[in-house]
Amino acid sequence: MPIFGVASLKNLSKCHPNLKLIANEAIKEMDFRVLDSTRGRDAQTRAFQTGKSKAKFGQSAHNYVPAIAFDLFPFPYDWKDRKAFTRLAEIIMRIAKEKGIPLRWGGDWNMDGDKTKSDAWDMPHFELHPWRDWAKKSKLYEDG
Ligand SMILES: [Zn+2]
Repeated sequence: MPIFGVASLKNLSKCHPNLKLIANEAIKEMDFRVLDSTRGRDAQTRAFQTGKSKAKFGQSAHNYVPAIAFDLFPFPYDWKDRKAFTRLAEIIMRIAKEKGIPLRWGGDWNMDGDKTKSDAWDMPHFELHPWRDWAKKSKLYEDG
């Protein structure tokens, strides 16, 4: 059975309990890593300036702590392996539904009913939905 490594555990420790619950169930079924749960003011500004994120600080679900969004990567890493991202998303979304946790997957955005069109950059992304409501119960992550 796969288990989380040190980096994943560290990222997961900053996540909302709902996200922890889902991840800890999902790892029993498929190996994946938890990356980038929170992005502080400096990191978000850098991501915005380099085009990695379209959001300014405070406008991304990643800017809050506890984190209300996390990015999950199937292991082993292969950006082109869309099937692995989709398989992971199916597991994550099924568990969220079973637990009654409203969750949204980045791979479902802009897809116009066609999964092959979805933006690969969003495929690792999951967030509590609607994130702006959850953000009110978290704090802006100024450091980091
Ligand atoms: Zn993300």
